[in-house]
Amino acid sequence: MYLKRKKMIHMKYIPTQDYSFLLDENHYVYDHVEDEDSLHIYIKSKEHGCKCPLCGKMSTKLHATYRRKFQDTPIHCKQTFLHANVYKYDCENRDCECKVFMEDLPFAKASQVRTDALNTLILAVSMFLSNEGASKVLALLGVQVSNDTIQRLYDRIEFIDNPDVEEIGIDDVAIRKGQTYATAIYDLKDHHLIALLDGRDGIPLKEWLKSHTKVRLVARDRANAYAAAINEILPECIQVADRFHLLQNLLGYMKNIFKEEMPSRLYIQNGEISEKAPEKILKEKTPDVSLLDSLHYDNTPPIDSNGNEVIYDNKKHYLDSRQYQHQKASRKKNSN
Ligand SMILES: [Zn+2]
Repeated sequence: MYLKRKKMIHMKYIPTQDYSFLLDENHYVYDHVEDEDSLHIYIKSKEHGCKCPLCGKMSTKLHATYRRKFQDTPIHCKQTFLHANVYKYDCENRDCECKVFMEDLPFAKASQVRTDALNTLILAVSMFLSNEGASKVLALLGVQVSNDTIQRLYDRIEFIDNPDVEEIGIDDVAIRKGQTYATAIYDLKDHHLIALLDGRDGIPLKEWLKSHTKVRLVARDRANAYAAAINEILPECIQVADRFHLLQNLLGYMKNIFKEEMPSRLYIQNGEISEKAPEKILKEKTPDVSLLDSLHYDNTPPIDSNGNEVIYDNKKHYLDSRQYQHQKASRKKNSN
């Protein structure tokens, strides 16, 4: 039954259908199989041609195909695999030393068993969790990865340092919130991370600065440890506060000033600020006569057959009466 269904999918498949939103423009999905907890997507490259990595000559001479399997970012919390038909080509340049080469995949490098997208997801999730916790959370999302593998991914992160960098940003970052801190160094030109140093006490920063003596401008946060390290190693270097911390500082100071200078309550009446609460004026609303006129509403009091005015509101408002005073007192007592 299952095989039959799979065959039908093959027959129905329209090869011109574009799945490039899932992959890149050179690959397409030609089949998929789904079971209770996993999803398998079968992909191929569209063009049968590839540039030789050595000489750069385009080759369309197919040597062989082989299959690679990658775990990918999960879809609907199902563990998702990409099965790629990968091509090997013969180099068509007779002078080239490279005889056979494999096509490059845009979503994973050679020997990778997970796609770049999945590795990024794993790193992003485990940034805020222990490796063991991340492994469990990822399992719920549909990613099978051991805590050892997460650690290996972390160990493999490399920063491309630039010894000629002239303008840098320095900030302290929490690797594990409240526990481990690190010092991040950015290239101010494009804000990419060029180094991640242990701790935030400025000692590793000193060592780093010794091998980056072309630095002439540092945007840093308010940490005094960084200022001391920079002053010691590169005294000529200009230190500026970065926008974020400058604004944070400014807002902090302004808040304190407001707290001290301003009364706890302010009243605004007729566009004027007053520290006193305005007197409450209770006014009876008069009917809008012009509106009543437009409605042709007779607002005169009713008259009985003897020509006397009928008063419906016969409530007596003796506010000084004992009964009223008693009720007022008990209201006050209840509200307190
Ligand atoms: Zn070649």
